[in-house]
Amino acid sequence: MTVCIKKVCEYNISKIQDSLSQSLELINFKLSHRKTAVLKPNIVMPAKPKTSVVTHPAVVEATINLLRNAGIEDISIVEEPAIGLDVQESFRVSGYTELANRMGVNLYGFDDIEKAEIQWKYGKLKIPKIFLDTDLYINLPKIKTHGYTTVTLSIKNQKGLVSSQIKKYIHTIGLHVPLIELAKVISPHLIIMDGIYAMEGEGPTQGKSRRLNTIVVGTNQLECDITASRLMGIDPCKVDHLAYGINEGLGEAEPVITGDSIQSLMRQFLPANLEYGRKLNVYAWRNPAACSMCMDSFHKAIKEAVLDPKWWLPFVSKFAWYALFGRINILQGKNASLPPLPGWNVCFGTCTKELAKEKGFAYIPGCPPVSNDVLKSFFSA
Ligand code: SF4
Repeated sequence: MTVCIKKVCEYNISKIQDSLSQSLELINFKLSHRKTAVLKPNIVMPAKPKTSVVTHPAVVEATINLLRNAGIEDISIVEEPAIGLDVQESFRVSGYTELANRMGVNLYGFDDIEKAEIQWKYGKLKIPKIFLDTDLYINLPKIKTHGYTTVTLSIKNQKGLVSSQIKKYIHTIGLHVPLIELAKVISPHLIIMDGIYAMEGEGPTQGKSRRLNTIVVGTNQLECDITASRLMGIDPCKVDHLAYGINEGLGEAEPVITGDSIQSLMRQFLPANLEYGRKLNVYAWRNPAACSMCMDSFHKAIKEAVLDPKWWLPFVSKFAWYALFGRINILQGKNASLPPLPGWNVCFGTCTKELAKEKGFAYIPGCPPVSNDVLKSFFSA
């Protein structure tokens, strides 16, 4: 199948819309004879569009305009942020509540809509039924690097179709293979990737926004992901889930490209460190068996502490000391391990309870831990 790359340099809705129209023509994709559409952007957490954490609402708005022009009136946006986060807050902060109200489209979280059971390699799975019933499912990921999966693109974006329990399960069984197994049982009719600004470094939530000037459009998830990976200067064969997808025959390793030349738009993105994430002397050791929300609960707690004077003395001062002059090692997920290193070792989340007990490390309960428990653990350290 053909993947279209188009150069788009700004979040200007009419320019994005023109580019999408041209892309659909180039890949010979017809919108006619469809009555319903479901859009799945990436809204992993409450984040402003300029941070490049979420799919920019301008790309979704341009897509909605295109669908309306083709006579599709029944349009829904469906997304579920990462585990433990408030879906309505995620929609509001990222601009999707305002977009949905203004455009008159439905906006649903996972819990708001009827589910349907489907079979996958690991048994039964519930996903929102709307994705199975619709005439047109469009996956709209943000192009980002990722600390566990190297890249997060359309295949990874589908993790938002499953319940929190299944998300956790996917991590505990190895992440890379189940992502492809999920793609085998549910895949979009169309993929539109927001890479006008993308994210490099410590994605999916802590990386840096970086201009890529690109929108990628196609109908095969694996081929779109391979193309976007190359646009970031990352060899797709070195991305575990993409390599597995190629082996499983989900698409071509060398997709046919149309539109603008990949060479002219390619950049060398800084990858996420796959061993650990580090800020000052705080090391968060990677473990694909850990959900990203376990780590994000730590970032969330720090932000809350900085804004609330009651934590300034018990937490911020202590944390600042450790971060500047000491060292903190954070462990997360099942079977977490740590090289023999100095520092204050903290086990995050119920998955690490046994490890904490065995090694005598500090332990913060929760799945994922809540801010209060994270902050209290420093207080008592
Ligand atoms: S404790 Fe953390 S890593 Fe383990 S299942 Fe819960 S959220 Fe995921």
